[in-house]
Amino acid sequence: MERTTCLVVGGGPAGMVLGLLLARGGVEVTVLEKHADFLRDFRGDTVHASTLTLMDELGLGPAFEQVPHQDVDKIEALLDGGAKATIADLSRLPGPNKRIAMVPQWDFLDLLADAGKLEPSFTLRMNTEVTGITKQGNRVTGVTYRDRVDGHEGEIAADLVVAADGRGSILRAAVDLPVYRFGAPMDVWWFRLPRNESDPVKGGAGRFSAGSGMVLIPRGEYFQCAFLIRKGTDRQLRAEGVEKFRERVVTLIPWLADRVHHIESIDDAKLLDVKLDRLRRWHVDGLLCIGDAAHAMSPVGGVGINLAVQDAVATARLLARPLRQGRVTSETLAKVRRRRLFPTMVIQTMQRVIHRLFLGRKLNSAETVSSTGMPFMLEAAQRLPFLQAVPAYVIAIGPRPEHAPEFARRKPQTIARS
Ligand SMILES: Cc1cc2nc3c(=O)[nH]c(=O)nc-3n(C[C@H](O)[C@H](O)[C@H](O)COP(=O)(O)OP(=O)(O)OC[C@H]3O[C@@H](n4cnc5c(N)ncnc54)[C@H](O)[C@@H]3O)c2cc1C
Repeated sequence: MERTTCLVVGGGPAGMVLGLLLARGGVEVTVLEKHADFLRDFRGDTVHASTLTLMDELGLGPAFEQVPHQDVDKIEALLDGGAKATIADLSRLPGPNKRIAMVPQWDFLDLLADAGKLEPSFTLRMNTEVTGITKQGNRVTGVTYRDRVDGHEGEIAADLVVAADGRGSILRAAVDLPVYRFGAPMDVWWFRLPRNESDPVKGGAGRFSAGSGMVLIPRGEYFQCAFLIRKGTDRQLRAEGVEKFRERVVTLIPWLADRVHHIESIDDAKLLDVKLDRLRRWHVDGLLCIGDAAHAMSPVGGVGINLAVQDAVATARLLARPLRQGRVTSETLAKVRRRRLFPTMVIQTMQRVIHRLFLGRKLNSAETVSSTGMPFMLEAAQRLPFLQAVPAYVIAIGPRPEHAPEFARRKPQTIARS
């Protein structure tokens, strides 16, 4: 049977950051990813200010800057009659990185994989789908997997298995950890529309009006668009057809009228079934959940990647030494949840409040958000612009930001890209 010290299941932001940091801490680590590469449908292209600072601390800042990206320094609300209001002004952030960098997630993950290859104790196995866990008594001792290229099946034993396999985690289901499920009033349709330099928004922008809402995320030559629909109405809205959908988009944001014909079919809209949940306990003996596997996030604020990365940094800091010494106990694993519960709860509570008091109501009413009818907090932030720093901090840095442990820090370096 194959064996490693720490087996990380899932090569998403949480798994790749954890793999790299543990390897830099001298731990033998293997990351298993079921896909052949990191190229997948859009699932968030945001590298937050706190992650940019982490990249600097890891010495990867120069390599990151070479990856094509766009910087967002403002998030705005679009109001009636073309007016705008600033929700978050990232230029007011503390620290060197006053921006969110928009980078295809696969480029970010590729960079982490290239950095990992420089560490002798790091192994990344693509095309390796974990199918279950192995146990001895109550202790998880490893996983079973299937190689997606040649179909062979096998087992890998490990001192610790980390489930970083995302919101549909099969590992968390396999150990049956109890979950708080919070529900959400909306689902999201993701699609793209062309973007012009002359468009009236430069950063991220959202419009909420008349029973629907839409967020535009600038991505070079196109906008990644999130169209909010009431939970469970996907089938009904699809049945109304593409013309009706185009109409809804233009009603929300009239200046998109010149390009909605680029939505060729209703199938261009990809459904995200929004989930918001959190494990009550993040570990069992021999297995720990982090990132979306421990807490699936709502897309509100676009903070899921940031939390996943921060979980990974805290995990590496707390577990590198016990893993090296072969002394990972349930008590050690419980420390990860204790450290990360506060920021997770703060962000999820804010998402729930926004779901309940704003999005839920907007999606069920015909009211618009106008310059005269702004929510109180938005209006206050226009009068007192320093308040725009608060949502900027929550979104781009987040409560209790984590910093690279000393053992993972390196001088700024360029690395060979594969
Ligand atoms: C459409 C969409 C848009 C989003 N937009 C944003 C955004 O703008 N900003 C933001 O911060 N967040 C966004 N999110 C949320 C964000 O993607 C997640 O919070 C974040 O990726 C979580 O990271 P993770 O590493 O925990 O899990 P994931 O990124 O989900 O990674 C899990 C990895 O595990 C692999 N895996 C799963 N099962 C197995 C298995 N059995 N064996 C081996 N490998 C497996 C998967 O292939 C995947 O690579 C969005 C999510 C979606 C779906």
